[in-house]
Amino acid sequence: MVKVDPDLIDKVRELGAFDISACYSCGNCTAICPLSKEGQEFPRKIIRYAVLGLREKILASVEPWLCYYCGDCTETCPRDADPGGFMMAVRRYLTTEYDFTGFSKALYFSKKIELLSIIILAAITGLIVYLLKGPIVPTHADLWAFAPRHIVAWANVIVFTVLSVILIINIYRMYKMSVGSIHFNKIPVSKYITEFIKIIPLHFFTQKRRVECGEEKKYYIIHLLLFYGYAAIFLHHTIRHMLLPLIAPSIHPSELVSRIIGISAFCALILGSSIAIYGRITKSEIYWRNSHPTDWMFIILLWLTSITGLLTDIFVICNYPLPTYITFSVHLMFVVPLLCLEVPFAKWSHLAYRPFALYFQRLKEIALSQAK
Ligand code: SF4
Ligand code: SF4
Repeated sequence: MVKVDPDLIDKVRELGAFDISACYSCGNCTAICPLSKEGQEFPRKIIRYAVLGLREKILASVEPWLCYYCGDCTETCPRDADPGGFMMAVRRYLTTEYDFTGFSKALYFSKKIELLSIIILAAITGLIVYLLKGPIVPTHADLWAFAPRHIVAWANVIVFTVLSVILIINIYRMYKMSVGSIHFNKIPVSKYITEFIKIIPLHFFTQKRRVECGEEKKYYIIHLLLFYGYAAIFLHHTIRHMLLPLIAPSIHPSELVSRIIGISAFCALILGSSIAIYGRITKSEIYWRNSHPTDWMFIILLWLTSITGLLTDIFVICNYPLPTYITFSVHLMFVVPLLCLEVPFAKWSHLAYRPFALYFQRLKEIALSQAK
């Protein structure tokens, strides 16, 4: 029996699909969408599911993740129903449903909880830095005396492990909702592996479907700038501050090379996030018109994290001890909320859900072909 959730459309509307009630189901958006194809039609089908309250159908759909918000459908909708904004709102809704902790829901539906979470995490981080910091060397900028390597390494291991576990569980729930419950036994294990290898790295690292989405290449470049900025920071940070101190503590990579990598990555992030903040303030593009509070949280935290990271590197190079220690502490107070809130519960989880949506879509296709 099909269950109907009468509140579904209101929830999606609250997450940004403000105009979708105007839709009269003409299908123009699906016809014009450069990414919609036979067997993966959207957005009209998804709009119908939401309007009719078909929650299970929405949860089983990976199509919202196949939309890259080029805005072509929104620009040409005869009813100004903003189907592109609707798809974004459904992605937010799905993110709240995949999350097993329920925290994503709280974050997306309450500005107060969002703000409070940032403040609490920043305050806890500040307190931990204060309690665990090493000696403050006043004569020169000795960051690794102030933040001892082994403490930073173990803090990284704990945060990295907890966030990864939450995200993996959420991806597994996405799988169960979209593929698992329907076609679970029909897909050979070898297909799971080969399709994973073919799809996930390619789409995670290139996000190449974004290029096929509409005419606008600027958005793709800004996205890549942000992606490679934080990928560089992440890799550099993981190797330098997590793996080396724990696996090969005698190896000390060059401070200068390390700072150059850090500065370049932070500059890319500052540039990308500044363009995105400006775009969201001026609403210069369709995809920046409907900013949810979590979008602002993400982009502002990213900007603050990058600025304080860049300043820390500059102060170390210029050998200013006190500004180094203070800026680094403030930097951590932005990094921790950014990572803890965004990676498993909000915007950053999209980076994982998008390639997995393609993977799960492919598994569905295989399952359907096996069933014939
Ligand atoms: S969103 Fe607009 S274009 Fe799409 S079906 Fe509804 S009215 Fe037509
Ligand atoms: S925003 Fe672009 S990709 Fe998304 S549904 Fe509309 S036309 Fe398709």
